[in-house]
Amino acid sequence: MSVSSAGNGARQQVFVLVGGTGDLAMRMLWPSLAMLDQDGFLSDDLRIISVAREDCGTEVCVDRIGAAVTKRIGDALEPETLARLRKRIVHVALDAAHDDWGAKLKAELGDIDRLDIVYFLSVSPSLFKPICEHIERAGLNKAPNRVIIEKPIGRDLATSKIINDSVAHAFDEARTFRIDHYLGKETVQNLIALRFGNIVFEPLWNAQSIDHIQITIAETVGVGERLGYYDEYGAIRDMLQNHLLQLLCLLAMEPPAALSSDALRDEKVKVLKSLKPITAENVLTNTARGQYGPGFADGHPVAGYEAEKGSPSNTETFVAIKAEIANWRWAGTPIYMRTGKCLPSRSTEIVVQFKPLPHSIFGPEAVANRLLIRLQPDEDISLTLMNKAPGLTAEGMHLQSLDLSLSLVKAFDSNGDKPPRRRIAYERLILDALNGNNAQFVRRDEVEAAWNWVDGIVKAWTDTHMKPQMYPAGTFGPVSGYRLIERDEGRTWND
Ligand code: NAD
Repeated sequence: MSVSSAGNGARQQVFVLVGGTGDLAMRMLWPSLAMLDQDGFLSDDLRIISVAREDCGTEVCVDRIGAAVTKRIGDALEPETLARLRKRIVHVALDAAHDDWGAKLKAELGDIDRLDIVYFLSVSPSLFKPICEHIERAGLNKAPNRVIIEKPIGRDLATSKIINDSVAHAFDEARTFRIDHYLGKETVQNLIALRFGNIVFEPLWNAQSIDHIQITIAETVGVGERLGYYDEYGAIRDMLQNHLLQLLCLLAMEPPAALSSDALRDEKVKVLKSLKPITAENVLTNTARGQYGPGFADGHPVAGYEAEKGSPSNTETFVAIKAEIANWRWAGTPIYMRTGKCLPSRSTEIVVQFKPLPHSIFGPEAVANRLLIRLQPDEDISLTLMNKAPGLTAEGMHLQSLDLSLSLVKAFDSNGDKPPRRRIAYERLILDALNGNNAQFVRRDEVEAAWNWVDGIVKAWTDTHMKPQMYPAGTFGPVSGYRLIERDEGRTWND
């Protein structure tokens, strides 16, 4: 498939990648653009302008992009893809501190009234304001032009409002696309399909049938070169405020009236606003904070966070939270979330643990049903059901559990067919932004509701002087992380 936006009076699309030489661009954004190009999703006449501080020239820039794309995509990359991508790209050296930023970009763009410009600001959020001001002053912000911005959108509610206000000055909310790349993951989208494309789950999707839900995002790596940034944020702001809460919303929201962006996001906001506040009274039992100390993780010895920093730190590299949603559907069914660095395995998974049978005619052999949604390292969704163990025994019927895979990727594997290529989450999201579809992007009120809840937790930590507990690198967080869930009878993390 190949599409052209030129002709018929349609505007030509231009993707302006601000921060085109940065780490995120090289590892994720250029490879995503290359694969969209390879699969025929980019219009034939789409131009891409890389904007960055470095004055490396287009030739050197595209060479670096070519190397980065090749490294990321490997064998799936067809040689002609790179050749086609290179022709689309122009690199422009522009420093956001300079007043002529907008005028120079405008000169590069040409007749702006014939363009449909998508900006991706892959730069520090401190640059969002000056860059949006440059764009606005040069008249490059008019509809249908739109902007994609990346986390972190603030480090609390107050700072997120400042960032959102500065972007809102140039782009209205409908044209502001806040990326949370977890929303672009195939399995996360499958979660929506599973919940709202089947009748069998919905009647059970509530506190009557679900005992609890667990969401884990575990990383084996430490903070590495991001220490300067990370020390200001910690695990709660870096991972929980955005990725974990987005997953929680998709799991807990009411069925939306439509798959439209506002219908979906209205329901997510309701969930965020229904989260019970965590205060100084319950912060010790409902949260755990940890910081990795010396140990061995990701195949390497680790000196420990404070040793890496070279000074004491109150920043958590692990956080676990028991969240409760105050509404009819979820009252009494907690959602346990945890995330951390230097943990023993790299995994992202959601466990929906159903309640045990009200009365088992099979005795303790009947294990409660469980839906396991894995996002990393593999993507899969499986449902544990009880089943008769095949064969004949003198004692009668025995049960065994059967993990039923509900994911197409696994089905392809078992047929011996080639599974579809595992896409980079940014591919889906960049394609949606090019098409002007913001359903899988985060609306301002979502960001603010999430910060409002997280700010309360951070305040409770401060008020109670709750410091992070040390855990050896390579273990699953501090003891308090286990206690958080095991305090509730019969519940343990799915390690
Ligand atoms: P980076 O430091 O590697 O790259 C920053 C880019 O911004 C470079 O292209 C640089 O030229 C440009 N830049 C810096 N100062 C500039 C200025 N004054 N004027 C014009 N351009 C300037 O950063 P990164 O890791 O690519 O991150 C980009 C954004 O994405 C940040 O907000 C970061 O928090 C966010 N983010 C990054 C990752 C990641 O994996 N790297 C993940 C999630 C979010």
